This record gives sequence, C-alpha cells and structure tokens, in this order.
Amino acid sequence: MSFVLGLTGGIGSGKSAASNWFERQGITVVDADVVAREIVEIGQPALTAIQQHFGDWVLMNNGELNRRALREHIFKEPSARHALEAITHPAIRLSIIQQLAQATSPYVILVSPLLYETNQHKLTQRTLLIDATEQLQIQRASTRDSQNIEQIQKIIQAQMPRSEKQKFANDIVLNDGHLDHLYAQLRPLHLAYLALAETQ
Ligand code: ADP
Repeated sequence: MSFVLGLTGGIGSGKSAASNWFERQGITVVDADVVAREIVEIGQPALTAIQQHFGDWVLMNNGELNRRALREHIFKEPSARHALEAITHPAIRLSIIQQLAQATSPYVILVSPLLYETNQHKLTQRTLLIDATEQLQIQRASTRDSQNIEQIQKIIQAQMPRSEKQKFANDIVLNDGHLDHLYAQLRPLHLAYLALAETQ
C-alpha cells in the first residue's frame, strides 16, 4: 500500500457511485461505514466493551448489537455518545489501517462520510470531495432510502457544511449531472492518482 486517497461527500452526494466506479477500475476501496459495522459484529472485542459499559440490554437475544436501542439511548443521553465513540473510534481506526495495509492495487481509497470530522483524513495522502447541492442530495437520498426529507435534512445539518469540506479537499468533483458526467470527471483524476502512486 503506497498512496491512500480519502473520498468523502455528504449524504446522497454520490460517494458510493464514485467509489463503485473506482472499484471497477481495479482500485481497492475500504469503506469506513462497513468497517464501523464489522467491528461490532458478534465476537469482536468492541462489542464486548460496549456490553460491559452499557449493560446487557444493548444486545438482542441472538447476541447481536441492538442498534436501535443504543441509538435511542444516545439520543436521550449525549454523554453516552462520547462513551460509545471512545470504544468504537479506535477500533474502527485500527481496522481501517489494517485493511489499507493489505490492499494490493496501485493506490487505495478510504471512503467515509465523516472523513474530516473524525480525522480519518490523516490516514490519507490526498482527499477527493464528491460535491452536490443540498437539493440534489435530498432528492437522491430520499429516492434511495425512502427516508423522509426532514430526516435527510437533519443528517445534512449534522454533517460538516459543504463550504468547509470544499476548503479541506484537494480535488472536488461536482456531481450535478448524469452518472456519465460523474465518471468523465473521475477518469482524469484516476490517471493522476495512478501517476502519483508511481512516484511514492
Ligand atoms: P452517497 O454514497 O454519497 O450517500 P450514493 O452514491 O449512494 O450517495 O448516491 C445516492 C443515490 O443517487 C444512489 O441511488 C445513486 O445511484 C444516485 N446517484 C448518484 N449520483 C447520481 C447521478 N449523477 N445521476 C443519477 N443518480 C445518481
């Protein structure tokens, strides 16, 4: 593993559409959301730590994490969020580092909706922002997830504003047209990343 690209963007911006395209070019993608779910699977030390901290009620009868109960608890008690993150964030970070190190593609991508917010960008050499207007984000996310507009707006408000992300990003792609328009913007970036990876 030589060169790590961080890929981020708000909900519905097109992160998955972009990372799927990179995967089709043979680039390994490590998805922070997937890692976050993996580290709390049955048998993982982070799940045991969560159970020890919060109590047995965080587990369902089959031993899996009761996400809904934990989410509701955190919503009522904000200090619980910090306790949970103190357990999960280091585990997520370690697993991401391990998965990035195992990648064999010319460069590797870390995709995360909270790349800057959680300091995961420090694990990368360069970052790419998939950018879209709030209107497009809402339109796409509501079609994809059948969530209502208010829920999506809440998620957008909890994420770092577009303008801030634009300041942090090395590269920005505005995903405001058809998917072909997105891919046409990704192609020259992919070539540039391949060239950068050569020099590492
Ligand atoms: P994110 O991963 O950033 O939340 P997705 O990549 O899942 O966003 O995109 C949200 C939805 O919008 C998906 O259903 C995706 O297929 C669709 N989508 C993304 N970009 C475009 C585009 N340029 N044109 C049409 N649909 C798009």
